Amino acid sequence: MRFSKANRKIVIAVDGFSSCGKSTFAKLVAARLGYIFIDTGAMYRAVTLWAIEHDCVHNGILDEERLVASLDRIHIDFRFNPDRGASDIYVDGEWVEGKIRTISVSNLVSAVSAIGEVRARLVAMQQEMGRDKGVVMDGRDIGTVVFPDAELKIFMTADPEVRAERRYLELQAKGEQVSREEIVENIVLRDHLDQTRAISPLRKAEDAIVLDNGGMTLEEEMEWFDALFAKTVGE
Ligand code: C5P
Repeated sequence: MRFSKANRKIVIAVDGFSSCGKSTFAKLVAARLGYIFIDTGAMYRAVTLWAIEHDCVHNGILDEERLVASLDRIHIDFRFNPDRGASDIYVDGEWVEGKIRTISVSNLVSAVSAIGEVRARLVAMQQEMGRDKGVVMDGRDIGTVVFPDAELKIFMTADPEVRAERRYLELQAKGEQVSREEIVENIVLRDHLDQTRAISPLRKAEDAIVLDNGGMTLEEEMEWFDALFAKTVGE
């Protein structure tokens, strides 16, 4: 490992817009440092999937009251998957990685994540998971709300067309039939809803460093990160 003294554990918050490659970036960073990677978007997606599968959505409209009244019954946990080098998410003991990234979940997740009671629960879980530090957590409010004292905060952004193309190729590879237009629409709408919601809206923390990865390869992103990390931990 490049940073031999990197047994120093800090919290790394990675926030930003939809489909910027936050999870890919955060996962690689975690592997580099021997940290735990936590994809908080997967948690909001898992609750959304549960809502869809438990009669809390009618004609595409979320029944917020019903979902909030059911929150105690939703059990989310992460289990490490060595093949992926990251943890998979489970809902009520069921592996749901395959189901949470579909367009039907994407179209509803911002409505679910705007609910205060949902956020309160998931944020508490996230804070518990990061208590011992040594985590890279990606989401929308990690540097602002979940870990406002994180030692390193990164805010990722890229042109919406670039992001849509990435998501399109990703979904195509999984065999999901969805048009580019539908993806652009979803990304633009989600960004808007996430930025304008009343509770914990998506915004850059004042002390976050911006990474616009539009024209960058993953290797370049890692070089950029290595330099930033070295500066942060004083190596
Ligand atoms: O990161 P991902 O695109 O999978 O996140 C899905 C959705 O979950 C976001 O559009 C946002 O509405 C919500 N989210 C959030 N806070 C987080 C992570 C995700 O509100 N920390």
